[in-house]
Amino acid sequence: MRILIAEDDRVLADGLLRSLRGLGYAVDQVADGVSADAALQSSDFDLLILDLGLPRLSGFEVLRRLRARGAKLPVLILTAADSVEDKVRGLDLGADDYMAKPFALQELEARVRALGRRGMGGATAVIQHGPLQYDTTGRVVTLNDAMVDLSARELALLEVLLQRVGRLVSKDQLVEHLCVWGEEVSTNAIEVYVHRLRKKIEVGPVRIATVRGLGYCLEKIAQPQTAGATGGARDG
Ligand code: CA
Repeated sequence: MRILIAEDDRVLADGLLRSLRGLGYAVDQVADGVSADAALQSSDFDLLILDLGLPRLSGFEVLRRLRARGAKLPVLILTAADSVEDKVRGLDLGADDYMAKPFALQELEARVRALGRRGMGGATAVIQHGPLQYDTTGRVVTLNDAMVDLSARELALLEVLLQRVGRLVSKDQLVEHLCVWGEEVSTNAIEVYVHRLRKKIEVGPVRIATVRGLGYCLEKIAQPQTAGATGGARDG
C-alpha cells in the first residue's frame, strides 16, 4: 500500500514516516499543500494522511481539489486537538477518518490498517480469499491454516492484488503502488516478485494469472452458495 503523508511538522512527519515504513508500506512525504496537490495528481496513492494546517495551500483545499477530481482514495485528516469545526468540515469535504493531535502512533497505525482494508473489501481485520487468509492486524498470511513466510515486498504485492481481485493490474501500476519516489524498481523486478509470490501462495483456486503484455490478475474465487443466513457469525 502506498501512502502520502502531507504534514509540515517535521518531527511528527519523520515519526510517521519511520513508523509506517517500518510496517512495510511505501510512504512518501510532503510538507506543504501545493506539493501535496501536485503529488496526488502525479502519483497513484492508496491512502492520504493529511494535516489540515498546511502552508501554501490548506489541507481543506487539498482535500476539496482531490475529491473534485473524483479521486476516491481514503483520506485520514490530522486536526488540532480541540477543533470540532475542523473535523466536521474535513469530514464534510470527503475525509474518511480523523485524528486529533497529539495522538498515539499505535492508534494511527490501526486506523491506517482499517482504511487500507476497505479497499480489500473487508470490514474486519481478516481478509479471506479462498484458502488464503490475510490478517491485516499482524500482517500475517496463512494458506490452509499454515503460515506463509513472505518478504515485505511480496506482502505489499499481495496487498495490491487483494485490493483488485479479478481486475488486471499492470506492471507499471505495481511499480507505482510498491515504490516510493526515487526508488528504482524495474518491471523485470516486478516479474521476479510475482514469480516468488506465486510459488508461495498458488494452491488450489488461488491463482495469479498473467495477462500477456499487460500485467497480472489475482483471479476471483467463486463463493460457495449458502442456503440462507448463517446463525453463528457472531460470538455473543
Ligand atoms: Ca501543520
